[in-house]
Amino acid sequence: LEVAAYREELDGIKVTGKRCPRPIKAWSQCITSDKILQCLKKSNYERPTPIQAQALSIILSGRDMIGIAKTGSGKTLAFLLPLFRHIKDQPPLEGDDGPIAIIMTPTRELALQTTKECKKFSKLFDIRCVAVYGGTGISEQIAELKRGAEIIVCTPGRMIDMLAANGGKVTNVRRVTYVVVDEADRMFDMGFEPQVMKILDSIRPDRQTVMFSATFPKQMEALARKTLHKPIEVMIGGRS
Ligand code: ADP
Ligand code: MG
Repeated sequence: LEVAAYREELDGIKVTGKRCPRPIKAWSQCITSDKILQCLKKSNYERPTPIQAQALSIILSGRDMIGIAKTGSGKTLAFLLPLFRHIKDQPPLEGDDGPIAIIMTPTRELALQTTKECKKFSKLFDIRCVAVYGGTGISEQIAELKRGAEIIVCTPGRMIDMLAANGGKVTNVRRVTYVVVDEADRMFDMGFEPQVMKILDSIRPDRQTVMFSATFPKQMEALARKTLHKPIEVMIGGRS
């Protein structure tokens, strides 16, 4: 990671990295879609949490980032909300196009939970989000994916199986430009680093990559150094 060139403390937000955009105070400072603003209101998400306040401005500016904040601090929306503008800025999917965004998560439960949260917003735009996770038959997930999806929320092992399924005809990562590694610390605890690495290696290097975690172990720091491009590191409430 870069030497600290920018550092600020506000609402317990600590930032390391060059030229970091300011955190926002209100959703409307970063989110221009009325549909999203209405959905946030309906969900009683009155204002961004500290990790969201800082992550939204960074991710929407196109930068890579590492977000460290404890469980329950709202990391999911921090990486989901910027996604809808990112997708809107890409040409629409056609033919056998694969997804634009891949969200990696360590467990089936988290994959389902994240997919549910994602669909609250994606359905407003006719954007499709499909969950791909192990421990269950692959054929139903293949059928879902064949109908096309802009977003895949996956566990890494099953995602690799999916990319190989039917000789690589089910989906591909050619169009992926937004990648999330969520719960990165748990991903390592569960031994998924090789799979995460394999997926990242197969995606075009000019993608935007963000990593979120409750803690920031050395192993994650090393992976970030290898796979992120000039990331901004955001830490809420100190290193644990
Ligand atoms: P984390 O991934 O950091 O553990 P989550 O993204 O799962 O946290 O969010 C924890 C809870 O906080 C969820 O129930 C979510 O609906 C809620 N939440 C997220 N953002 C906000 C917000 N801005 N205002 C109020 N509640 C929120
Ligand atoms: Mg989470």
